[in-house]
Amino acid sequence: MNGEPPKAFNEQNSKATEMAETSREESVTESPCIRARGVGKTYAARSDDVEALADVDLTIHDQEFFCLLGPSGCGKSTFLRILSGLDSDYTGTVEISAARADGGSVTNMVFQEHGIFPWKTVLDNVAFGLKMDGVEKQRRHEKARTYLEKVDLAEFADSYPHQLSGGMKQRVAIARAFTNDPEVLLMDEPFGVLDAQTKRNLQAELLSLWSETKKTVVYVTHDIEEAITLGDRLAVMTARPGGVKEVLDVDLPRPRTRGSIPTDEFTTLRERVWELLSDEVQQSVER
Ligand code: ADP
Ligand code: MG
Repeated sequence: MNGEPPKAFNEQNSKATEMAETSREESVTESPCIRARGVGKTYAARSDDVEALADVDLTIHDQEFFCLLGPSGCGKSTFLRILSGLDSDYTGTVEISAARADGGSVTNMVFQEHGIFPWKTVLDNVAFGLKMDGVEKQRRHEKARTYLEKVDLAEFADSYPHQLSGGMKQRVAIARAFTNDPEVLLMDEPFGVLDAQTKRNLQAELLSLWSETKKTVVYVTHDIEEAITLGDRLAVMTARPGGVKEVLDVDLPRPRTRGSIPTDEFTTLRERVWELLSDEVQQSVER
């Protein structure tokens, strides 16, 4: 079944609303937001086809912070592109339950290479999605400023991207994603190229924005510590063609920072994940 963008499952939607009325706690933990079944993707190349994904089954819950972990080239970015609707040429089904009354985007992507416009000010970059949605200037700037404040960039609103460090540019990308107010945030190794300290600061900011807004986040990383620090659950993917090897609960208290996690629990979980991942990394290296 090719060419089908992710579709909303309305039945699930009304069920989710009912659940939210009866028990908020239940709805957070039990209503699915994204349901992928048997998802496969093959890139057609002139010499050899590349099977990037095979039979991916995954359910991601509403308001969950979900991390996808896997070796390089296993199809993580491919899967996110499918979830975002950027790629509709796949087999299997993807359903997203979130629906927006105002017709705005359900999903929003944050890439590693932040994708901000060099010729626009920080404020206009952050407000860009709202501009595209036809939101008038004063309102979109107000909203953009709110999120610039939250990521500590209020005083750089009128600066241009070339005046910012790599970490600050990634903050701009995050402020923009939250300003757009999607139901689902798709993040593709957004902090991958940053130094360790900047990465930790941004992880903390992201967690704080997430706990305020309770978006569903699908976060791709190849960094085990990052997945454990951020995620409610994490999926370890197999080497290409990527599939879900195992899904683990990250049963650690929040609010959470890398420093607040008890060392023993962190180490146990990290070793467990590494055990699952190392075979796959080996296989992807041998290809
Ligand atoms: P990851 O994000 O996990 O590193 P990708 O999803 O980027 O992996 O890629 C999965 C596989 O598909 C890789 O082998 C990659 O080379 C291949 N691939 C990705 N995009 C394309 C494309 N546009 N055309 C052909 N092959 C591609
Ligand atoms: Mg990738």
